[in-house]
Amino acid sequence: MLLQCAFCHKSFSVAKVTQTRGKGIGAQIQCPKCQAWLGRHKSLTAGKIAGFYLAAFAGLAGYFMDNMMHIVTPTIILSVILVGVMHIMDHLILIEPPEDVVSSHDV
Ligand SMILES: [Zn+2]
Repeated sequence: MLLQCAFCHKSFSVAKVTQTRGKGIGAQIQCPKCQAWLGRHKSLTAGKIAGFYLAAFAGLAGYFMDNMMHIVTPTIILSVILVGVMHIMDHLILIEPPEDVVSSHDV
């Protein structure tokens, strides 16, 4: 799996990443090419999880309640589309530029 750096725009393999910090959906990785810290959109990642549970919940509701199918089916379809769209939009974002760039640009 290849990731693209949001700072230097170079692609690198996940296996090349040596520096990480944080855990779960807030975890950050360091670009092996330029040493910039990269992370994920927390809201998008949370949205994907929420969409997944919404689809799972709607599926369960449809299974236990017979007259819910007209609500359940579109809910599942919508959730799947939502998760798919969020997955496409989900890419690495810049958390912190490399240290040498910060000092020369005076952010
Ligand atoms: Zn980079």
